[in-house]
Amino acid sequence: MNVFKFGGASVKDAASVRNICSIVKNYDQPLVIVISAMGKTTNAIEEVIRLAKTDKDQAIEAWNEVCHRHKRVSAELHATKESLKYLDEYQMEGRDIIMHYSQDNADEFYDQLICRGELMSTTIVTAYFLSESMSAKWIDARKIIKTDERFRSANIQWRETELSTKQMIDTHAPNHKYLITQGFIASTRDGRTTSLGREGSDYTAAIISYCIDAEKMSIWKDVPGVLTGDPRIFPDASLVTKLSYREAIEMTYYGAQVIHPKTIQPIQRKEIPLHVKSFVDPTSIGTLINNEGDMLYPPMTVVTKNQYLLHFSTKDFSFIAERHLSMLFRKFNHYRVRVNLMRNTAISFTVCVSAEADRLALLKEDLMYEFGIEQQDQMELITIRHYTMHAIDRLKEGREVLFEELQGNTFQMVLKSKEA
Ligand code: ASP
Ligand code: MG
Repeated sequence: MNVFKFGGASVKDAASVRNICSIVKNYDQPLVIVISAMGKTTNAIEEVIRLAKTDKDQAIEAWNEVCHRHKRVSAELHATKESLKYLDEYQMEGRDIIMHYSQDNADEFYDQLICRGELMSTTIVTAYFLSESMSAKWIDARKIIKTDERFRSANIQWRETELSTKQMIDTHAPNHKYLITQGFIASTRDGRTTSLGREGSDYTAAIISYCIDAEKMSIWKDVPGVLTGDPRIFPDASLVTKLSYREAIEMTYYGAQVIHPKTIQPIQRKEIPLHVKSFVDPTSIGTLINNEGDMLYPPMTVVTKNQYLLHFSTKDFSFIAERHLSMLFRKFNHYRVRVNLMRNTAISFTVCVSAEADRLALLKEDLMYEFGIEQQDQMELITIRHYTMHAIDRLKEGREVLFEELQGNTFQMVLKSKEA
């Protein structure tokens, strides 16, 4: 079996749904198809969640708008009564969830509402496939992907997930060529909805590929494959046609957005090749990621925005020692502050981090009695794998570098964001 993953941009409207349908018709093999929420939906639901904290009426209005958008796409695809009934149900349940929102379980609330983006998109796609006389079956990912209770960034329970995924395949694959399921969402052992973190649909596809020993996994994107940089920032970025698992892991670790960072490990373990392909130009070659890769890579640049620089100093001018560092890292973990680069001197410790602003504020509040803390916002972290001096100079030109580091074939630097 092959596993295909289609992201939000590939299901953003009726024409896009027709396009993915024509893509899969070109393949003879049976497929598990993992689908994200329709383009921008997850952001729109996050906005609904934000509103639910202060104004439930406004939140419900915004929620209705999200649902109506789905119904419009569905109608354009000549939806069946049955699929409209499901969309209605998701809408009503969503309204209920919003009405019962309370701050105490904000992360669990988030997952209960956010999952509806994927539930709706897959309902629409499955209905369309069926109307095209394709043998499709809608699968609830929450029944197969099992996690712990870390809502919004849940950890996979591999044993249970493997068992339930295999069982699902055994039950449905003999009678259906296309098994359609949601990326990004999962559930706890006792059936409460969880999610795997933003952009987590790639990871879902990798988990399923791992569990069923897929022959191959393909991620369909609006770019031609893995490029040497983000084409919106680097118009001259070029396609990398072959990549080793190792290189792909490194690039995604440093923030290359083309694939979710957790995607590669599971498929590498089973040596399942990953093909990154364009849904805009499905016959183009794309990028093949496997054990081989290339011997020589061109410089590949990753720009991560919305970084913060935090400078910690001891209040009594004592040296920054293990005790301080272990305390800092415990807190970083607790407040889900991700450390991307760090440096320490005798009495100061500087980190470049990414975090949600409110969690970062809590971290600082927690640590302000122990440390002097200075924060710089709107930073940008630039990483160049396989750097050349020319590539570095080009990026530095006319800009102030706050700190930089060379390690093996990786160069990293923190700069004030251009927009700042
Ligand atoms: N819909 C989710 C998001 O936008 C998951 C994904 O797209 O992979 O983050
Ligand atoms: Mg997406």
